[in-house]
Amino acid sequence: MLTASRAIRGLILVALVTMASHAMPLLARQSPYTVVTPDSRKSLPVRMMNGVEMVALDQLAPIFGLALREDTLAGAMSITTSKQTIVLTPGQAAASVGGRVLSLSSNVQRDGRAWFVPLDFLPRVLAPATGQKIEIRAVSRSVLLGEIKWPQVSVRLERQGAGVRVAADIQPATPFRLSRDGTKVLAKFDATAIDLTLGGAAAADLVASVRADGVTVVIDLGPAASIVRPTEDAAAGHFTVDVAPTPRAGQEAPPADLGGNGLKIVAIDAGHGGEETGAKSADGAAEKDVTLALARRLKAAIESKLGLRVVMTRDGDDTLPLDRRTAIVNNNQADVLISLHADAAFRPTVAGAQILTLSPDDYQRRLPPTTTPAVTVPVAGGGTRTIDVVPWELAQLPNITASTAFATSVEQHLRELRVPMHARPQDALPLRLLAGANMPAILLEVGFLSNGDDAAALAGNDRGSAIVDALVAALTNLRTTMSRGGGR
Ligand SMILES: [Zn+2]
Repeated sequence: MLTASRAIRGLILVALVTMASHAMPLLARQSPYTVVTPDSRKSLPVRMMNGVEMVALDQLAPIFGLALREDTLAGAMSITTSKQTIVLTPGQAAASVGGRVLSLSSNVQRDGRAWFVPLDFLPRVLAPATGQKIEIRAVSRSVLLGEIKWPQVSVRLERQGAGVRVAADIQPATPFRLSRDGTKVLAKFDATAIDLTLGGAAAADLVASVRADGVTVVIDLGPAASIVRPTEDAAAGHFTVDVAPTPRAGQEAPPADLGGNGLKIVAIDAGHGGEETGAKSADGAAEKDVTLALARRLKAAIESKLGLRVVMTRDGDDTLPLDRRTAIVNNNQADVLISLHADAAFRPTVAGAQILTLSPDDYQRRLPPTTTPAVTVPVAGGGTRTIDVVPWELAQLPNITASTAFATSVEQHLRELRVPMHARPQDALPLRLLAGANMPAILLEVGFLSNGDDAAALAGNDRGSAIVDALVAALTNLRTTMSRGGGR
């Protein structure tokens, strides 16, 4: 009996809730709109009439500087703006502006002495009559007057393998800045306000919530969030934040399917450029020119032989900071990064090609301690746990296994094509360019310009061809690995 009575009580409760929610619109006062100008905010009361949100002309007059004059004989209302005169007739879903008839979504109504117009009177009639830009935002119940930066931010949460992708679309594209604050990722907009809409669903242990706080979108990370990788393209009005759990010990290449969908885009970074000449050979060949020439040859070979898209960080003699290079590569969602360099050493006998990957230990040690905080977060079911927050500079971390595998493959193919290798053919160094890269990434030192043989070979055609062929062969292998779902 206890069970039955509980069930019945449950039913009654459901019924009450349902009734209440249906009754709400009738009982509740319609909350006002806010009229936003570049330097003010004013409340605009609205009234529900026959299911349509209406505003009183008396309320609009002071905000828009309107002079109202009722023509009692004709039963019409004449509204004078700074530019034109609007004529309204009760019961008509239209307004006359300087002789032109503009339609409204609903009839103009009178209630005693007060005149009411539907909300779309503002963009449809007042805007052309006053020469002002007027936009209605239903989500935030706002009326935007003039040039207001108020983007709509649509955020979608998508499951990506073991992780979650938070993808934001910004309309219109508005500048923003992504940052990390403990267990939060923040996207702060250069705007008057933002409208946030949410879609999709996420595991709460990775992304606890996404919310707006003023002009900032706040992504609250869940207790299992460990790897956080942002990608942004402000010009295109887009950013994504990939959130993944800590890989289990012994697991290979952890977030194997975070955006990894085969090899489609190859990024080539021609080292140095512009004011940064890099190393120089005895007869004056500059590293920046050697790397660019090789990058162009490699691009052409990848496009023609593999049919893949190639992104170049530079295709001219440009001075480009390292972080800018990483940003280009990440924003273009490249699947692999090859950075080309040539070396120089004090001892002229030092020679050969060398492949570098990121050494995370060294890199972490060199970061200021504040950028690798351990954060204590509450855990579902009570208690807390401490997680290591991976700073964005370490986007490369989850890719290191794949980067090293790719480096080994490049070394094999270089050797097969008889490219002389350095005494230490592979090395791991705390390289800033690689640290920020979101994908498997290597830096290839093609040889030593300070060595006569290397410099001569690099100035000729054959060494370059061998290097390009070796890289194309390694990329062919990588494509096979990636299409099997591994390697990333
Ligand atoms: Zn270099």
